[in-house]
Amino acid sequence: MPFHPGIATDDTEISFGEVDYRLQRRRLLRDVERGIVDPAEVCDVHPELIRVARNVAPHTGVSCPLCSEKELRLVAYVFGPRLGPGGKCVVSDEELQRIARRQGDFVSYEVEVCATCGWNHLLRRYPLR
Ligand SMILES: [Zn+2]
Repeated sequence: MPFHPGIATDDTEISFGEVDYRLQRRRLLRDVERGIVDPAEVCDVHPELIRVARNVAPHTGVSCPLCSEKELRLVAYVFGPRLGPGGKCVVSDEELQRIARRQGDFVSYEVEVCATCGWNHLLRRYPLR
C-alpha cells in the first residue's frame, strides 16, 4: 500500500464511517520539527503515488509542510469490490461518483502528496455513497 491507512486511537471519526487524520498529521509534523521523527521516514512516498501526484492529481492550494515551496497534490485511493487489493487511484470527482454508483461498499482514502520531497499523509477516509 502506498500509504498507511491504519487507524490510530487519536483519529477523529467526524461522521458515520468517516475518519479525519489531520490531528495525527499535526502531531507527526511536530515530531519531525522536534527531531523525534526523521523526515526521510515521512517522505517514503510510493513511486506510483508520486507519479500520479506529479502528472494528474489536483492541486490542493496548500504548501508542502516540509519543503514549503511546492503545492501539495491530492490523490484518492478507492477500495472495494473488483478494484483489486491495491485499490484504484482516482483523481476526479466524476470518476469517484461513477464508482459510488456501483454495487457494493467502497471506501475512499485521500492522501496529500508532495511530488518534490515525497511528503505524503493520509488526510481522511470515508465511505462512498
Ligand atoms: Zn515537499
